[in-house]
Amino acid sequence: MSDYISEIQLDEMLAKLNQLRNELEEEASSLQHASEPVMLDQQSVGRVSRGDALQQQNMAIASLGHCQERIRQIEEALSKIDNDEYGYCEGCGEQIPSARLNAKPESPLCISCQEKQEQNAP
Ligand SMILES: [Zn+2]
Repeated sequence: MSDYISEIQLDEMLAKLNQLRNELEEEASSLQHASEPVMLDQQSVGRVSRGDALQQQNMAIASLGHCQERIRQIEEALSKIDNDEYGYCEGCGEQIPSARLNAKPESPLCISCQEKQEQNAP
């Protein structure tokens, strides 16, 4: 187990997670702004551009949800590092391969559990 811990380099993961969270929080705050109700100015906004504005707003709301979900996962991963539980799959309890953690440090599931979850998703 100690070999595994040194392999995934917790310091590096911690730095990555913190950086990722900062980036996502910045993105979330700009999306938050974009997802606020569109102010309709009848004189300057025609029907077509109002539709565009609403579409952009819907996209911003969807992206914001995705962003907030990732922030939540990052916070969970950070608390797992604190509790020495980081790097184990929430589905099967096995160690998550370091390559996967390097690519997606906030991931709470190994690839096979992730795939199962996605198949079960509505
Ligand atoms: Zn698993």
